[in-house]
Amino acid sequence: MAARTDNRRAGFVAILGAPNVGKSTLINRLVGAKVSIVSPKVQTTRSRVRGIRIVGAAQLILVDTPGIFQGAKRRLERAMVHAAWSGAQDADAILLLIDAERGLDSNTRRIQTGLARSGRQAIVALNKIDLVARTKLLPLAAALDDGQSTERIFMISALDGQGVEDLLGHLVSLLPEGPWLYPEDQLSDISDRLLAAEICREKLFLQLHQELPYSLTVETESWRELKDGSVRIEQVIYVSRKTHKAMVLGKGGQRVKSVGREARLELETLFGRRVHLFLFVKVRENWHDDPERYRDMGLEFDS
Ligand code: GDP
Ligand code: MG
Repeated sequence: MAARTDNRRAGFVAILGAPNVGKSTLINRLVGAKVSIVSPKVQTTRSRVRGIRIVGAAQLILVDTPGIFQGAKRRLERAMVHAAWSGAQDADAILLLIDAERGLDSNTRRIQTGLARSGRQAIVALNKIDLVARTKLLPLAAALDDGQSTERIFMISALDGQGVEDLLGHLVSLLPEGPWLYPEDQLSDISDRLLAAEICREKLFLQLHQELPYSLTVETESWRELKDGSVRIEQVIYVSRKTHKAMVLGKGGQRVKSVGREARLELETLFGRRVHLFLFVKVRENWHDDPERYRDMGLEFDS
């Protein structure tokens, strides 16, 4: 009898929340590796990314989602919000993440209403408690407990790790018994090509401002293993206007060079090998309306 595999558990926990509450930071901490990109700007995460963590006999699959926000008008925004809700539908449990500093904003209320309407409960985690005085946390926790959609409340800091182990233990206890769903050495469901494109997009989010980060997307066009063990990666940064191309390039190409350097350094750490990264900037006015761009991001075009 294979006793060890008898008590295995596996399942999905979807992390929902308003933009910027720290969903991707939490996933990376729980997985113990970077699987989802992070920036101080809203709407950094565009698609559903799964991060995988093994605890004893349990395989916990965490589903990162784009933030849920009101008034999604553009096709890309609608597709993002749709991806977030459908990520929740398929999950065994839902974790609602709230920025403790910002409190209960209209986006969070909207998510609570959506959950209550669908009859689902969520585990709630107040995140960023490293930024907030303890005396403020209890009233916030009390306000959150609407008696309907909240199963239990945790207080955590995804950034410094406070409270995260308790939360992890609880999430694992909710998983159904069953065989593992991914090979045990797998940390996420995104390919190296997509992760490489995401890392580049993260650097663009960090270095560019206003609407510029939202007007671009990055794709890995070619990936070639070289004989010396290094890898040669070519990526295209699609922008929607000529003026944006000039801004992404920067004076004398300085901006794109700096983005490329930062992305390359991080990719070398992530993949544990030398990386030659080549970035090309192309104007594609209608990339927001091109089904192929959505497929590559794992989003539904008609949301
Ligand atoms: P998401 O949009 O919900 O995925 O949020 P991100 O994970 O991209 O994080 C948004 C910003 O909040 C980033 O600048 C993070 O570094 C920051 N952040 C996330 N968690 C914490 C936390 O626990 N404490 C603090 N101080 N900052 C955090
Ligand atoms: Mg995110």
